[in-house]
Amino acid sequence: MRKHIFNAGPCKLSDPCLENTSKAILELGNSGQSIMEVSHRSKDFLPVMEEAQALLKEILNVPDNYHVLYLGGGASTQFAMLAMNFLKSKAAYVDTGSWSSKAIKEAQIFGKVEVIASSKDKNYTYYPKGFAIPTDCDYLHITSNNTIRGTEIFEDIDSPIPLIADMSSDILSRKIDVSKYAMIYGGAQKNMGPSGVTFVIISDDFMKSAITDRPIPTMFKYPIHVENDSMYNTPPCVNIFALRETLKWVKSLGGVEAMEQLAIKRSNMLYQEMERNSMFTSPVAPDSRSRMNVPFVWSEGNEQYQDQFMKFSTERNIVGIKGHRSVGGFRASIYNAATIEDMEALVKCMQDFEKQIKG
Ligand code: PMP
Repeated sequence: MRKHIFNAGPCKLSDPCLENTSKAILELGNSGQSIMEVSHRSKDFLPVMEEAQALLKEILNVPDNYHVLYLGGGASTQFAMLAMNFLKSKAAYVDTGSWSSKAIKEAQIFGKVEVIASSKDKNYTYYPKGFAIPTDCDYLHITSNNTIRGTEIFEDIDSPIPLIADMSSDILSRKIDVSKYAMIYGGAQKNMGPSGVTFVIISDDFMKSAITDRPIPTMFKYPIHVENDSMYNTPPCVNIFALRETLKWVKSLGGVEAMEQLAIKRSNMLYQEMERNSMFTSPVAPDSRSRMNVPFVWSEGNEQYQDQFMKFSTERNIVGIKGHRSVGGFRASIYNAATIEDMEALVKCMQDFEKQIKG
């Protein structure tokens, strides 16, 4: 029996992705070879890569002057690679928690970082808004959804300097205007597929503005990956296959518009239960509440039930809700493949627990 999976990433993937990828592991089409055995430069794999790129462009309405890359190394490698290629003197960063702090730390290796807005003053429980963007910085970096803290920004901000977004945990969950960004990147292991592949959407103009007078190892140069169509080295073929299956599935359900409606519905179910339930509460400011990662903590006086609720939910086949150690309590990560039934199971579990304790 399949569990109600609320893992933060890797996370629940769609049934068609799992079914089609398992078939391809045994045999890719009629090739007589597994997806793990075919050459990445063969006629068997090339269409997989091409379709994975074309589908992302189609689903996100990516303008023609942008490139889609599928690389290794995770979003964490992008933290460094971005700065290595584009931080000439100073870059602006918005600090919204652990992941942006890690991006800042990597950028500081290559130049100055100006933290132009931060929610650290309130323990990262809100998303800063209306901040001024300095024009003397090389770029502005934001983390659009904060996987750990559960805060999210739902608008594509206007930036006078190249805007870069780490969209690891909210890509494909709402309609975005890609033309407002110079680059969008993330690990695929939430809304796009399994871990092991990183997506980068980069404008041609921005890519061409990469630093040329700094020694940069070949594997860390964006232009190299663009020129070689993500095949400068051996790409993660199985992961890209599963990513393509995920994109096909997203498209078949109606694309990002449909995903956005579902995300609103699913997350509202949990936020409404927190309003109703006397034992749980949201630590996040109402206008910043993420639709993807929903932390829920104990309301005052109920903290002693932590282990009991963990056991109670596990018995109901709910997995992955243990809160991040920096927030405590619980967190449900409800990415695109999470169903309304998964949400109903979690909400019912919270209701039943309250009944059992409070009567
Ligand atoms: N940014 C965000 C917002 C994340 O949630 C994560 C991983 N959970 C990362 C970056 C790091 O990604 P990776 O593990 O692919 O390096």
